[in-house]
Amino acid sequence: MATLVLLQRDLRQFDNPALYNAVRRRKPIIVVHVMEKRLGSTSKWWLCKSLRLFRQQLEEWSIPLLHLDDSANFSDMIDYLNDHIEIEQIYSNGLDFELPDNFVEIHESFLANLIFIPEDMTKEFKIFTPFWKSIRKNCSPVKPLPNPDWCKKNHVNIEFDEYNELPMMMADDRWNQMESYWEIGEKAAQKRLELFVKTKLSDYDHGRDFFHKDGTSKLSPHLRFGEISVRQIYEKLNNKSNERFCSELGWREFAYHVYRNHGDMAKIPLNPKYCDFWPEYNDDHLNAWRNGQTGYPVIDAAMRDLSTTGWMHNRLRMLVASFLVKNLLIPWQIGEEWFYDHLVDADPAVNPFSWQWVAGCGTDSVPYFRIFNPMLQGEKFDPQGIYVRKWLPEFADFPMKRNIHQDIIKQPNLRPENYPQPIIDFKSSRERTLSTYKAIVAAK
Ligand code: FAD
Repeated sequence: MATLVLLQRDLRQFDNPALYNAVRRRKPIIVVHVMEKRLGSTSKWWLCKSLRLFRQQLEEWSIPLLHLDDSANFSDMIDYLNDHIEIEQIYSNGLDFELPDNFVEIHESFLANLIFIPEDMTKEFKIFTPFWKSIRKNCSPVKPLPNPDWCKKNHVNIEFDEYNELPMMMADDRWNQMESYWEIGEKAAQKRLELFVKTKLSDYDHGRDFFHKDGTSKLSPHLRFGEISVRQIYEKLNNKSNERFCSELGWREFAYHVYRNHGDMAKIPLNPKYCDFWPEYNDDHLNAWRNGQTGYPVIDAAMRDLSTTGWMHNRLRMLVASFLVKNLLIPWQIGEEWFYDHLVDADPAVNPFSWQWVAGCGTDSVPYFRIFNPMLQGEKFDPQGIYVRKWLPEFADFPMKRNIHQDIIKQPNLRPENYPQPIIDFKSSRERTLSTYKAIVAAK
């Protein structure tokens, strides 16, 4: 008789409710990772490595980690496992698929990756601040679980040949260069949290916006794959001096609140006013945006950073998204997909929620007339052009005393020869967008 633990976005031992409850049953445990339905290519790269490390961790307790590529084959897998050992109970921390009817009775699902229980919030909120105030006032954050009493007697003494292969082949070699930017897995996540608390947290409120500084936690991919518990972070840091940081975790909770109350957020605008609008767009512009060749230094640096590291600073995400949607007039769904394929923290709720926020069609969005100006933003948050120089080798010899963000646009003769001309004129593209949006708002 065994307990089956199904995991998807919870690759950790600490504060993992499904695993914790399985360990307490004192029966042999089999852990199965079930592939998520929506995963981008850098996420797959991360997942492969994370799974390998997690398997090593579980091996210490003689718990096997198997992998199921497609949830549609769930029943076949159970038949196979039952041939070796009877599955008595199934635990999970929430799945992106429904278990077949015949397993519902033995399945118990816990919620593991949010601070608050979503069902405790019965009212639907459309604006962040009242949501965050209300949930903190009226609901209790879930406390992290203690470490379970691991016991080697829980071991399963059977070799499973099938479902034993971790999905190594699907990790695209293209992304191996990301190796030097990341340490993956639960131990690395705990280390990153400690380092952040020790070295950056005290300056977070101010430092978080300057993208040339490494001022944020970079915990997002660890949170995405559940290598660290958000409840652990919140419990440790929730106090007056860390309000700002905790409210960022709050935005994550809010994105899930909205996601829960809506359907396909990656395709359908939350505000129906924007459903059937988007003019024809220019493919060359899209390719220039993707490849970091727009002629706007801060946009290009950010996009090249993304393609190399699989990550981008929050302010830059807002800038490049605004540029795509509100200057190039390219549908936000196309940007969302590109991000989803390239971000190591690509999150099914937060990514579409954030794209809709920037595009102006989500809940609590920036209004349509707010269009980020890449020159001013660059000047303010990367005044010496340190970030731009890091990612654009074309500017290696550009004089330090010059304002890289403004001068390059205002004085074309300063532009390095191998750096592209701006693909659009910022001012007129802004005006075109404002009149297009204004017309939709007036028509509805
Ligand atoms: P920190 O500043 O250290 O914040 C700590 C944690 O709080 C983050 O790890 C994250 O879990 C959460 N958080 C921070 N900012 C936000 C935010 N604005 N919204 C929701 N949660 C937040 N974040 C993702 O995790 N996955 C995505 O796919 C994603 N896509 C985005 C797309 C766009 C267009 C934009 C504008 C933002 C997106 N974000 C996404 C939100 C944000 O940019 C990242 O969470 C943040 O940059 C991660 O860096 P960090 O871990 O250093 O954050």
